[in-house]
Amino acid sequence: MAVNGTGPYNPDNIFAKILRGDIPCKKVFENDWVLAFHDIAPKAPVHVIIIPKKPYVSFIDFSKNASADEIAAVMQSTGQIAADLKLEESGYRVITNAGQNAGQEVPHFHLHLLGGKALPPFPV
Ligand code: IMP
Repeated sequence: MAVNGTGPYNPDNIFAKILRGDIPCKKVFENDWVLAFHDIAPKAPVHVIIIPKKPYVSFIDFSKNASADEIAAVMQSTGQIAADLKLEESGYRVITNAGQNAGQEVPHFHLHLLGGKALPPFPV
């Protein structure tokens, strides 16, 4: 189901449930700000979802309302995960879908980290 990237935060979304531990995930990274886990339906050999622990509906919300420390934490964590997964030499893609027209399905801001093969020309 598509979502509006600017609406109120819905605490029943699937990533909120993962953050609460209500449903499991295949965790790859966690710190005070960020949780990252393997996508349940991977679009590439490596497909990791990176989320802030605080509730933001989309990039629209995150980019306006997150602190500089939190934005840095999400970006630096993403780079660290890519390095840990040995993606630096081959390269990788980081994307976010913000709102309905972009095809955002889960209304908790997230980055997709994709790699492990030669990716098709953007957009995937
Ligand atoms: P979006 O379309 O940018 O919102 O991407 C949502 C992503 O979340 C999709 O790639 C889904 O496969 C993924 N996803 C949905 N449910 C789960 C889950 O329970 N665990 C891990 N990934 C999920």
